[in-house]
Amino acid sequence: MSAARYAVFGQPIAHSQSPRIHAAFGEAEGIAVDYRAIEATPAAFAAALEAFAADGGVGANVTLPHKEAAFALCATRTSRAQRAGAVNTLLRKGQAWHGDNTDGAGLVRDLTARHGLDLRGRRVLLLGAGGAARGVAPALLDAGILELVVANRTPERADALVDAMGEPGRALSAYWDALREQGDFELIINATAAGRGDGAGFSLPLSLVNSLTTAVDLNYGEAAIPFLAWARAAACRNSFDGLGMLVEQAAESFQQWHGVRPRTDDVYAALRARDALLVTAD
Ligand code: NAP
Repeated sequence: MSAARYAVFGQPIAHSQSPRIHAAFGEAEGIAVDYRAIEATPAAFAAALEAFAADGGVGANVTLPHKEAAFALCATRTSRAQRAGAVNTLLRKGQAWHGDNTDGAGLVRDLTARHGLDLRGRRVLLLGAGGAARGVAPALLDAGILELVVANRTPERADALVDAMGEPGRALSAYWDALREQGDFELIINATAAGRGDGAGFSLPLSLVNSLTTAVDLNYGEAAIPFLAWARAAACRNSFDGLGMLVEQAAESFQQWHGVRPRTDDVYAALRARDALLVTAD
């Protein structure tokens, strides 16, 4: 019997690490995995997903720019996907798609299990309010942080994200230009795509940093360079990129589809050894 089919949809998608990661998980767990990368424009995404299902597709990951479209195409969703308003994992149930969002669980697992951070009681600054930020915000709140402050280039999107969390007083928005007035944070997360742009540096007030501050970029490879350079210059205690989150969110997806949570350390080490600077963002 041929293996059930899985795929990642995005645009662009050629450099996605997901096929490599899922193949490695399958090999390690003794599960045959047929997982491909499928490029689709926003206009073609819904039809491409249906064609995939008709051809035996039973599970898919969704990356830029389709996470919100995927959310709309699902008949049912997990509560964490519902709260995020974005879906990165699809599971075929009968004749319809069930949507999940594993980004937040992936980040929290990377922060706590791999990097040993205790998130409880921490003030967290989240930069960005796109699909990735929406995915990680509920998981951070659920992990027991004290306060989440969200700042975004377009402030209305930060307000909408905070409203969607439904935790007034604990989740707040702030103007990017007024971050100096926000005090300091134990965790600063870059969930923007700013580093993918023209290479301009990242500029944030040094007053955001205290002696415990960890800085995390959800990006990896070249796109993480500007923020991580700022974090080092600002003397953050720790700083790291999103490669671990990438592996952990993939493991969460793998578990949804195959019922087994794969071990992630070897896959993470292999990706890291390939030189993070050569790894292009999904
Ligand atoms: P998205 O939905 O397109 O959102 C992009 C975000 O970046 C928005 O908040 C946008 O602000 C902001 N932004 C873009 N250019 C900016 C600039 N020059 N200055 C300041 N802010 C800027 O993308 P996404 O899905 O949230 O992904 C964000 C990044 O996270 C991507 O680079 C992606 O590769 C990475 N990511 C990593 C993982 C992982 O597993 N490690 C998972 C998901 C995403 P506006 O609202 O003002 O446009």
